[in-house]
Amino acid sequence: MSQDISIAIIGSINLDIVASVKKFPQPGETITNATVNRFPGGKGANQALAAHRLGAKVYMVGRVGDDPLADEATQTLRQEGVDLSYCKALEACSTGLALIVVSESGENQIVVAPGANAVFNAEDLELPETDAIIAQLEVPVETILKAAVDNDSFFCLNAAPAKPVPDELLQHVDLLVVNEIEAQTLGAELDSFTGLLATTYGAEGAELKQHGKLIAKAKPPTVAVVDTTGAGDAFTAALTVALVSGKQPQAALEYACIAGALTTTKMGAQSSPLAVELPDL
Ligand code: ADP
Repeated sequence: MSQDISIAIIGSINLDIVASVKKFPQPGETITNATVNRFPGGKGANQALAAHRLGAKVYMVGRVGDDPLADEATQTLRQEGVDLSYCKALEACSTGLALIVVSESGENQIVVAPGANAVFNAEDLELPETDAIIAQLEVPVETILKAAVDNDSFFCLNAAPAKPVPDELLQHVDLLVVNEIEAQTLGAELDSFTGLLATTYGAEGAELKQHGKLIAKAKPPTVAVVDTTGAGDAFTAALTVALVSGKQPQAALEYACIAGALTTTKMGAQSSPLAVELPDL
């Protein structure tokens, strides 16, 4: 059923460079025994891939720089057949870069240089006509607002990373997805939100509310967790695909929880086995 739906993802495209170390360096200290891996990332790109792997026709609407990192950051999207015709390379800009240091105990420190993502201007926004739009908060909020105001399609906002969202934008959101930290950041703004509100609780699962009333609650399966990066991205994509495909809230939430859980079983946000292991909608 999901093959028939189309989704535009407005969001970030990054290259994640992940250095694994025994322990974090102190300020001024040099660590010389790190191993480094490179992964395409960015919440936008992660969600685009997840929605594509779940069978939707997906357009990635984003910006990269005019540097060699651009190709690497979009490699998986291109290889798997996400439509990149609304993705542009900006002159004299660098591609978004996340420098991630992971310690042996699994903690991480992340420095993001947003590059082209931060100068994805509202005036330059062009969107295909789709059944749904998904956005996150790693590109300018004015650009997201323009997309929400100018389009009637189902609009999902994943309010991540945690930052306040203008009321005017929330008024146009049909589905708002937050984790506990993002929910705290939005605080009282959530009280006046009238759309569908999905809150995720990691391994504890997620709940779905409408007008403040609980309408669905689900727990993910127990899985062997390797890396939780991208769980929220897969969850957001799957919940949107399921709801827009006409699934009832409880079934859609259960489906999204399985997608989130599967993503934690592989290293890297874009390496999840969604297409292989998730049941058809
Ligand atoms: P975020 O990545 O945005 O912080 P969460 O960590 O809440 O979001 O994860 C989103 C969803 O992914 C959860 O609702 C759950 O279904 C699934 N998930 C996350 N962590 C785990 C885990 N350790 N085990 C099983 N499922 C998980």
